[in-house]
Amino acid sequence: MSKYDYDLGIIGGGAAGLTVASGAAQLGARTLLVEKEEALGGDCLHYGCVPSKTLIKTAHVYHLMKSGPRFGLPALSPPPVDFRQVSARIRSVIGVIQQHDSVERFCRLGAKVEFGDPRFSDEHTITLAGRSISARSWVVATGSSPAVPAIEGLERTPYLTNREIFYLDRLPASLIVLGAGPIAIEMAQAFGRLGSRVTVIQRSGQILSKEDPDLASLVQQELEREGVVFELDAAVVRVGDLGREREVVVRNQAGENRTLKAEALLVALGRSANVAGLGLDKLDIAADQRGIKVDRRLRTSHKHIYAAGDVIGGHQFTHVAGYEGGVVLRNAVFHLPQKVDYSRVPWCTYTQPELASIGLNEKRARAAGIDYTVWSEEFAANDRALAAGESGGRIKLLLDRREKPLGVQILGPRAGELLSEWVAVFNGGVGLAKIAAAIHPYPTLGEINKKVAGAIFAPKIFSPFVRKGLKFFFSFKGRACGENEDQAGQ
Ligand SMILES: Cc1cc2nc3c(=O)[nH]c(=O)nc-3n(C[C@H](O)[C@H](O)[C@H](O)COP(=O)(O)OP(=O)(O)OC[C@H]3O[C@@H](n4cnc5c(N)ncnc54)[C@H](O)[C@@H]3O)c2cc1C
Repeated sequence: MSKYDYDLGIIGGGAAGLTVASGAAQLGARTLLVEKEEALGGDCLHYGCVPSKTLIKTAHVYHLMKSGPRFGLPALSPPPVDFRQVSARIRSVIGVIQQHDSVERFCRLGAKVEFGDPRFSDEHTITLAGRSISARSWVVATGSSPAVPAIEGLERTPYLTNREIFYLDRLPASLIVLGAGPIAIEMAQAFGRLGSRVTVIQRSGQILSKEDPDLASLVQQELEREGVVFELDAAVVRVGDLGREREVVVRNQAGENRTLKAEALLVALGRSANVAGLGLDKLDIAADQRGIKVDRRLRTSHKHIYAAGDVIGGHQFTHVAGYEGGVVLRNAVFHLPQKVDYSRVPWCTYTQPELASIGLNEKRARAAGIDYTVWSEEFAANDRALAAGESGGRIKLLLDRREKPLGVQILGPRAGELLSEWVAVFNGGVGLAKIAAAIHPYPTLGEINKKVAGAIFAPKIFSPFVRKGLKFFFSFKGRACGENEDQAGQ
């Protein structure tokens, strides 16, 4: 008889927790999954990736409906958006995906699912609705919540976060977005396209501050063309509730205050780890709003208590939460020591154009003191992008001194999908010569990957030395036109 009720207990049924639960249960470990909300799936399914990407598609279609003349079609003025219909579509997409994250499915896989508010009572035991449940190992995968900084007046002012924004019953006529990270910028474009007058307020001078300034500013220009207003280098002094409107007082770098007003206020100022109420302090597990402290095997100060996903901070993406779930599985279930490696994490901001990234960009290379060269190609020279009317943006490939790839940034149509070829390059050790030589279908956006890789070899192929040698060889045969042609005509 085992000393513990379960081999593995997991707290949190989002991307990280579900990855661990499904793997552990299928491997035969007695697995418990505890979730505090009514359904599994976490933020990504209910308040994050899925609703945001569904909304973005809806906004894109509405935008296209109004873009007829750009494509040689008649101009249309579609009626205003009924946001309840938009929300209904979001709910229906979530409903389909929810089946994959259903309690029944996890039960079939062999995991016991419990709902409620767990709290550690000792390092192997939680209490849940008055019961004690023990496990040999635990995984804390409780995710993150919108960070709400101390802004004067915010506690008295109604505001939206990612938990409410997808489920409004009407489209706000105007929206102020606090913050300019990926979530803020995706929502700014989507709501702008649906018909809200959107203003983005950002403390620093650049939106999408992790990205290279040249690419981030192209995203900004695109949104500005669509009517989004940016207040950069603007500190929020205070916010207030005017009844039908919210007001935001901002201060610019010259110290001047301005008051902006909008029907709705979206707070998108980063994320805060969900660590409260778990009893981690009692176990002396170091944790704060930025996350639970873990080592590279994702172990807390108690080696049998792991943490993964948004709750440890760092790269807060669903695919990273899934990756970390896999690392926990290898350590906790297979007992194979595996450390996390974040050097090849890809990500994408799903604006139009999309901005996708893997490895180092110029900003990160400079910060790391790494010498690099940049090779870039424009979508304006890609036939498919021109045909689609989406020729803004470029690809940037960073190489180190030995011409090994350090990173790739793509700003352009379907950049997130185009990045997959580079995911293979970085993870599979595929040489750039292979990408340059591989036949890519024409006309595709993916040809830009081949083109930027090919550009690196072009100076070598067409070097003065090679050209001189070949010129000498061909001169024996005469020339197709020029002097020889003249002679032939005589
Ligand atoms: C608007 C938005 C858009 C996004 N878009 C993308 C995107 O396009 N691509 C991408 O990769 N990422 C995206 N993300 C990020 C992504 O949603 C997160 O990185 C991902 O959900 C993290 O997974 P997780 O398992 O760590 O946490 P979560 O998915 O949040 O899961 C944590 C779970 O733990 C539960 N929980 C919390 N506290 C407790 C407790 N005390 N007891 C029991 N259960 C608890 C929660 O209810 C939740 O179900 C987006 C996020 C937002 C907000």
